[in-house]
Amino acid sequence: MQKNIKDHNQDTFSSPDKSVLNAHGNPDKSALSEHGNPAKHKCFEERSGRNKCLFQEIFENLNCGAAIFEAVDDGDDFIFIDYNKAGLEMDHVAKEDVLGKRVTEIFPAVNESGLLDVFKAVWKKGGEISHPVTIYKDKRLHTWRKNYVYKLSTGNIVSVYTDETDRKKKEDYLKLSKIIFDNSQEAIIITDLRGIILDTNPAFTKITGYARDEAVNNNIGFMKSGKSGPEFYKQFWKKLHKTGAWHGEIWDRKKTGEIFPKWLTVSTVYDDSGLPLKYVAIFTDLSVIKKAQDDINRLHHYDILTKLPNRSLFYDRLKQSIEKSSVDGKKIAVILMGIDKIARINESYGIRFVDNLLVEVTKRLKHSLFTAESLSRLISDRFIFYISRLESYDPIAANIQQIKDIFDKPFEVDNNHIYISVSIGVTIFPNDAANPNDLIKNAEIALNHAKMTGPNNFQFFSGDMTVRAFERMRLEIAVRSALSKGELIVYYQPKVNIRDNDKIVGMEALLRWNNPEMGMIPPIKFIPIAETSDVILTIGEWVLRQACRTGKKIMDMGLTNFVVGVNLSAKQLKQKHFVDIVRQALQESGLPPQCLDIELTESMIFDNFDRNVKFMHELKSLGVTLSIDDFGTGYSSLSYLKSFPVNTLKIDRSFVMDIPDDKDDIAITSTIISMAQSLGLEVVAEGVETRVQAQFLKERGCYTVQGYLFSPPVPEDHFMQLLKDGFPDLIRT
Ligand code: C2E
Ligand code: CA
Ligand code: CA
Repeated sequence: MQKNIKDHNQDTFSSPDKSVLNAHGNPDKSALSEHGNPAKHKCFEERSGRNKCLFQEIFENLNCGAAIFEAVDDGDDFIFIDYNKAGLEMDHVAKEDVLGKRVTEIFPAVNESGLLDVFKAVWKKGGEISHPVTIYKDKRLHTWRKNYVYKLSTGNIVSVYTDETDRKKKEDYLKLSKIIFDNSQEAIIITDLRGIILDTNPAFTKITGYARDEAVNNNIGFMKSGKSGPEFYKQFWKKLHKTGAWHGEIWDRKKTGEIFPKWLTVSTVYDDSGLPLKYVAIFTDLSVIKKAQDDINRLHHYDILTKLPNRSLFYDRLKQSIEKSSVDGKKIAVILMGIDKIARINESYGIRFVDNLLVEVTKRLKHSLFTAESLSRLISDRFIFYISRLESYDPIAANIQQIKDIFDKPFEVDNNHIYISVSIGVTIFPNDAANPNDLIKNAEIALNHAKMTGPNNFQFFSGDMTVRAFERMRLEIAVRSALSKGELIVYYQPKVNIRDNDKIVGMEALLRWNNPEMGMIPPIKFIPIAETSDVILTIGEWVLRQACRTGKKIMDMGLTNFVVGVNLSAKQLKQKHFVDIVRQALQESGLPPQCLDIELTESMIFDNFDRNVKFMHELKSLGVTLSIDDFGTGYSSLSYLKSFPVNTLKIDRSFVMDIPDDKDDIAITSTIISMAQSLGLEVVAEGVETRVQAQFLKERGCYTVQGYLFSPPVPEDHFMQLLKDGFPDLIRT
């Protein structure tokens, strides 16, 4: 059947044989015959061959697709009866393959696209319908067409169609661009080639605060911050003109006046001939990004509660410090603190309270700790820091003491006063470990150890730290706060005149330390430790002031020739303003200078002979007297003694104590006494414990003595009692 149709449709506008048409059910035979094959039809025969050709030519050469259909199956389907060139090309079919065929056979999709219904409607009702057709290939949009369907007077259907794909694509693209422009989070500015703003998007307004109308017609530079100079903008335009684009960071000013960094990308828009038309500037507010980066960084490296660096940042910093120390060879101490009985505090007060407590602890540590720069929160109640470039244990001791002081005072949390203490674990690089992980781990072990030995304690991880070194460390830490805690007391030992009824003629100030944990600690144990740091200076000055004050009290009792002896430490001797300190102590107390005797040892003087002799002269110029303590144990030579501006020699206890048994000591003591006499110096013997010793000294010409025979060093009130006992006349005054 189809073959027949084809046979009858060889020519354009030819009408198929009537019988065939009938078989296809064409309802309008007259119309068909009217527009059928002109060669066979009367009407067409009447038309001039020229017109026919013209019409055919127009149909063939239309630059839009066109096809003519004849309805079959009572308008349920349509067969092709003509197809123009543009249509065949657009549909990728050959004329001989389609003419006489059903449209549903050639293009099954005609049904889905709705075009078949249009054909049917037009065929049935006449008129014309414009219908868009979307053609898919491999499930993707392939072409987009506009079909214009109308019915010929012959009853045939003509479909004229144009390929709208390009136009539609452009239209879609414009729509999309508009959506992007309006919804972009990045600010977009469109300018002409002079930089005059033509359009801005909503993000621009959101970021800068300028409404579109406030920006349009302004030059793009109207938001300049002034941060970049003219040279910058010269380079900017140069690059833009040369390459068509520019990107980089630039600072602008918002409507509020706030300046902000932005990441700017400028692109040139060209016309079809390649000439620049416009610029599109797109930017993001970098301050937002920078802040976000900062936030991320903070979250990653800082503890949210205390705002202190967290473990990971501490680790990084310690690592860097270790790298430096590996070069300069210095040690690092890692100090870890843990709050004692934190679980109990948690149980009693709750987690909120503990959080607030930790914040308070952080504040104090940050404020007071000597080496607070690296302070971090390791986890829960564990705070950690390190001390780098260590040359001695001094800074460790100082910091541990500082921590103890910090926790001495109560913390005020949620209207409660709470006393807490910390235990401390210390580990040393490189002695204990070589990397941050192991150092932190060791500090934890040391801390746990400290906790086991009691609250408010500290421990070194180091296994090779000897007991003595450790004890010394403990003392070193404790001695720092001994003065501020009122644990130091000045005792006084009388100096008596054995030629004048053992009358008290003076006293020596001797320091005592009563520590609540370690008990009475003798000066011989703690003074050398205090001397390793500047603590001795504070202590020494304090003893001096105390002694002067007590001396003045005695003076005021009427003992105007009374002499107060004060021991000087080697470090005080080196102190720049020591002479001024002495002057001040005398002035403050009102003690006459001649009543103050300063005791120093030979070894101290020989440490820096010339300088110290000069220093002794300066001291003497104040009016005070000087004694050489422990005389006989050092250089003890006549030649240098002459150059010392000293008043008194104190014979060391070691020579006195074996008198009268030791012949050598007898000889030495006798020599010192005669040496002093020949030089016109006073002589005092210390450590006199027996009458025999006193008698011996008296016989040799040494009349001023000190020793347990008369009195050990005693507290001030006790000493006053001794004075009153020795001078009954004074009591009444
Ligand atoms: P030093 O200046 O030679 O003080 C005399 C020491 O002998 C004192 O010991 C005293 O208590 C002790 N002593 C006195 N009489 C007797 C006695 O009859 N028998 C015995 N066995 N000992 C006696 P102390 O108080 O333990 O002082 C020891 C050293 O500590 C002092 O030796 C002095 O070098 C130093 N020292 C004491 N107080 C101070 C001070 O305030 N500043 C400085 N820089 N050093 C001080
Ligand atoms: Ca002394
Ligand atoms: Ca002595």
